Amino acid sequence: MKALKERIMRDGKCFDGGILKVDNFINHQMDPILMKSMAVEFVRRFASTDINKVLTVEASGIAPAIMVGYLLELPVVFAKKKEPSTMENMLATSVFSFTKNTSYTVCVSADYLRPGDRVLFIDDFLANGNAAKGILELAEKAGATVAGMGFLIEKAFQHGGDELRALGIHVESLAIIESLDNCQIKLRD
Ligand code: 5GP
Repeated sequence: MKALKERIMRDGKCFDGGILKVDNFINHQMDPILMKSMAVEFVRRFASTDINKVLTVEASGIAPAIMVGYLLELPVVFAKKKEPSTMENMLATSVFSFTKNTSYTVCVSADYLRPGDRVLFIDDFLANGNAAKGILELAEKAGATVAGMGFLIEKAFQHGGDELRALGIHVESLAIIESLDNCQIKLRD
């Protein structure tokens, strides 16, 4: 998606270890106009997919997910990264975070991820695909189907996207980074 790619080249910052910082428009300050355009693009790309719910993980996925849910007029559920003591019917799994180099629990209530649900998973980044695989596990536990996965930015050099596509999942990424070697951002055309 042209507008996102241009913004990444203008405002994205590269950090050691293959991390792209987009704090200026996605992860800290947010650009709602760009966020809306990205959600419109997801709606276009998943137009022929049967979905009844949008699913994401807190915190960075919530903004794009709520925009998509708003446009599709569908409920949005965010999986939580801490186990709330009050959560009923909790489904949980463990996810390894490569940016934080530690594992954390993601959980969702079976009240909101239900058997027969067809969810569109939305998140900010796809790297090794650990968060996405955690979501697949939660969906399986719930008896729900992941009908598609949409990411704002995919880092192709970490290959999570290859794994998800090999599983037959419909994955859409609005900007694909080929490399961050030598702190240079190389985008796929
Ligand atoms: P994965 O589970 O696919 O390895 O990583 C995805 C998660 O890690 C995303 O939800 C995102 O929060 C975080 N992440 C991965 N790579 C980056 C990155 O380069 N920049 C930022 N800001 N977050 C990242």
